Amino acid sequence: MRIPRAKDNVSKEIIGKRLSAIKDLGVDLSHTIHYAFDPSSTTGNIENFIGVAQVPLGLAGPIRINGESAKGDFIVPLATSEGTLVASYSRGMKAISEAGGCITRIHSDFFMVPYLFRILSLEDGIRFAEWCEQHSEEIARVMEATTRHGKFQGMRIKHVAQGVVVEFEMRTGDAMGANMVVVAAHEAGKWIVENAPDIEPEDCHLVDMGKKAVASRAMRGFGKNVTAEVRLTKSLLQEIFHTTAADWMSLYRAVQEYWSTTGTHGHQCMFANGLAALFIACGQDIGYLPEASYGYLLPFELPDGGLHVTIQIPCLVVGTVGGGSSLPTQRECLRILGCDGPGGARKFAEIAAGVALAGELSVLGSSAAREFVGAHEALGRKRPVSRIDEGTPK
Ligand code: NAP
Repeated sequence: MRIPRAKDNVSKEIIGKRLSAIKDLGVDLSHTIHYAFDPSSTTGNIENFIGVAQVPLGLAGPIRINGESAKGDFIVPLATSEGTLVASYSRGMKAISEAGGCITRIHSDFFMVPYLFRILSLEDGIRFAEWCEQHSEEIARVMEATTRHGKFQGMRIKHVAQGVVVEFEMRTGDAMGANMVVVAAHEAGKWIVENAPDIEPEDCHLVDMGKKAVASRAMRGFGKNVTAEVRLTKSLLQEIFHTTAADWMSLYRAVQEYWSTTGTHGHQCMFANGLAALFIACGQDIGYLPEASYGYLLPFELPDGGLHVTIQIPCLVVGTVGGGSSLPTQRECLRILGCDGPGGARKFAEIAAGVALAGELSVLGSSAAREFVGAHEALGRKRPVSRIDEGTPK
């Protein structure tokens, strides 16, 4: 089967042709075709549109956040098909809120795109790197000329066997910045090829677009480098998680030993779980979850039997302008958080850090109290749906 395409690829007619083609395969798409927006609003977000993948959306919270941009109590929309997830995060959020809230801070905030300049001599490569550093002001001007909101932050140079990799860094305002910085770095690469001695256009290559867990980025930061922390009292641990700080820490040490001996990258229970649900609800690029999961859960038992818990997400790539953030339901979810559009990105990142913290508290808390499996048995099991049971939407 060839997928029907047309110049206007979101017209009713061409969408109908694609749906007919799928119907010819014997598949009924009666759920997929129900959506409440104009398909043309998906231009720039998807090609060959036929409908929507409806992911259940639930509410967790409220969670109290004492951040720089996120201040107050937030109800958090989470899109997932994992039973127990919303309940589990809600429990973590309840603990955080009853503790007076979590403190969140963003340490750094930029997107980076690396270009290789092929120079097969270390000495020439070192001269080239010096040339780039001497011309950083011109390179900044070239990059900033491509965008109104992007601001040049700097360049980092790496010498590799094939030459020199220049990592172009930009602050990206409220956009996550993948498109913005790729365009700016592309122009910088062109300018360097035109102006630096002995570099040909074919020697300049984009070498990475992220979407993977990279240790050096986790050390330096990529996207928003964000931390959240909370102090839970002895009585809160008992009341909400039915456990003690000592039991929590004992389990944490065992879990951490396992992470260490299995070469686990990033020491945390499951940042990706709640963040995936938040990303899907709020139109974030879930391709950047590998980066977000390269982070750390760092608990400390307090002398009074309480627990001080910090999580660090050094690479949280999120935005509230551009990408999927302006799609209709995604925009609505960002509105629930008060984060839609300009001015929302740092607030959203702080809320995301609070969500990740809530998940860590809940999963280790329920495991320490030996309630993890029981909770999933009670809330998260599903028998396969038979074909006869499948209904059409009312
Ligand atoms: P974008 O949707 O490409 O562009 C958003 C634009 O919004 C910005 O370029 C900016 O224009 C404008 N803008 C308006 N108000 C803004 C504000 N307050 N702050 C920042 N920008 C503002 O968004 P993007 O974040 O650059 O790219 C995200 C998309 O790239 C996602 O869909 C992602 O999946 C995709 N992506 C692309 C690649 C790639 O290789 N190109 C790779 C991975 C993902 P100005 O620039 O004129 O300021």
